[in-house]
Amino acid sequence: MSKQVVVVGGGVIGLLTAFNLAAKVGQVVVCDQGEVGRESSWAGGGIVSPLYPWRYSPAVTALAHWSQDFYPQLGERLFASTGLDPEVHTTGLYWLDLDDEAEALAWAERERRPLSAVDISAAYDAVPVLGPGFKHAIFMAGVANVRNPRLVKSLKAALLALPNVTLREHCQVSGFVHEHGRVTGVQTADGVLTADEVVLSAGAWSGDLLRTLGLELPVEPVKGQMILFKCAEDFLPSMVLAKGRYAIPRRDGHILVGSTLEHAGYDKTPTEDALASLKASAIELLPELKDATVVGHWAGLRPGSPEGIPYIGPVPGHDGLWLNCGHYRNGLVLAPASCQLFTDLLTGAEPIIDPAPYAPVGRLG
Ligand SMILES: Cc1cc2nc3c(=O)[nH]c(=O)nc-3n(C[C@H](O)[C@H](O)[C@H](O)COP(=O)(O)OP(=O)(O)OC[C@H]3O[C@@H](n4cnc5c(N)ncnc54)[C@H](O)[C@@H]3O)c2cc1C
Repeated sequence: MSKQVVVVGGGVIGLLTAFNLAAKVGQVVVCDQGEVGRESSWAGGGIVSPLYPWRYSPAVTALAHWSQDFYPQLGERLFASTGLDPEVHTTGLYWLDLDDEAEALAWAERERRPLSAVDISAAYDAVPVLGPGFKHAIFMAGVANVRNPRLVKSLKAALLALPNVTLREHCQVSGFVHEHGRVTGVQTADGVLTADEVVLSAGAWSGDLLRTLGLELPVEPVKGQMILFKCAEDFLPSMVLAKGRYAIPRRDGHILVGSTLEHAGYDKTPTEDALASLKASAIELLPELKDATVVGHWAGLRPGSPEGIPYIGPVPGHDGLWLNCGHYRNGLVLAPASCQLFTDLLTGAEPIIDPAPYAPVGRLG
């Protein structure tokens, strides 16, 4: 295919979409209003699983499972080609004192996922730094976390090395060029960029752009704050999660604790209240963090969507315009499958999974 494709937004979704498309189409241009990979995809925790996978629809599960299987090879491929390791770190995940443990176990049996109840003493043996008082645990082996700031960095490096990809940073898209019922490009601060196909992957900002065409896309920013500690490399052997808060170990001993869920528009300011609340959760999970220094505190804007089901596919009534956005709390885990499915749809290949649940048709106001 000799097409030129413009991708609007260079988060993990836009970057991986561009990476996949580059092997299939003529030219790919990625426009980002800032630096690529510096918004939600940088700010997230990088757990390669939804937080409570059994609470999601089969649509989210299908993307998550495909991606989970694919992540190790994506990490290896990016490391080999760029020298930047996205650090896909398989630690497993303990959920503690869940209210819906029975539902979780039934889901795991149905979906054949390696999730099982463990004796609480076994959880304390496996994670000696775990706080006191937890009564129940379930464990899923094989769950990884990805070092998302490095993932987006390595994706950027991989794209920069491709002769048919152009990254345009600090290039804000303000609207679409429309000719005879077809989208033929985007309006940017630097002028018009023409395209055979335009992909909207602008994360939490996607709804604003689609509104310029009179379409209502129910994607809105949902602020999430996170804190970071630095401990010994072997401090925390697994990810742990209780009462909606989690701790994620990176390979070098950094521990991320998150996260808040706030509706605050596009405000990304970290707050003292969230800092205190996240610290309290961190100490409840891992009391030794009481004496550790918080070495980072930030916020990001998740692209919130109904039930967290992303929009993947063509925009009805606007030929040439496509969506790959609205991944809410799971954009990092869902990225490989979403971007492969998207590429299949745009290039007319056999889709990796049934695209119907993600189709924008019937889901836009
Ligand atoms: C605290 C927190 C914890 C999280 N933890 C996890 C987790 O553990 N696992 C997981 O899977 N997910 C997690 N997420 C969610 C995940 O980070 C997001 O779903 C994912 O990063 C969304 O990727 P994206 O590419 O759609 O959006 P973004 O990364 O936000 O990228 C969108 C890009 O579009 C650009 N853009 C916007 N408007 C325009 C415009 N007009 N013109 C040009 N460019 C534009 C922006 O500058 C930005 O770079 C977390 C998120 C947060 C905030």
